[in-house]
Amino acid sequence: MHKKDGSKKNKRGYDGDHVLVKSLNHPASRKGWVPEHRVVVEKREGRYLKSNEIVHHIDLIKSNNHSANLCLFDDHASHFSCHGSLNKCVAKLMESGCLIFNEEKKIYEANIPTIEHCKKSIANIEPFEE
Ligand SMILES: [Zn+2]
Repeated sequence: MHKKDGSKKNKRGYDGDHVLVKSLNHPASRKGWVPEHRVVVEKREGRYLKSNEIVHHIDLIKSNNHSANLCLFDDHASHFSCHGSLNKCVAKLMESGCLIFNEEKKIYEANIPTIEHCKKSIANIEPFEE
């Protein structure tokens, strides 16, 4: 379903978090709509993407379709292992205290005061003086 916010008039729609663009002649078009992130990478690569190819949002924000935020994977397996690498980062972030598990809500949360503290301690490092 597309949002009824007028975005369809601007030839942009939404499928969950993904942005869709109107493209009637596109080979992968579904009722005239194509995911914008795939179109951006297709323009960059100069070819249509194969159905098995996956476009990953580097910052994990699915509406950020700037070319520099999009990474192309050959298949689901390589894309999946990329996401798996995130879990290793999560473990390190938890160890450092920058990420915490909220047991009440059963979700992960960024521990912002710790991040701010990290920034401050970095900012307070005195430059080396001879
Ligand atoms: Zn991804």
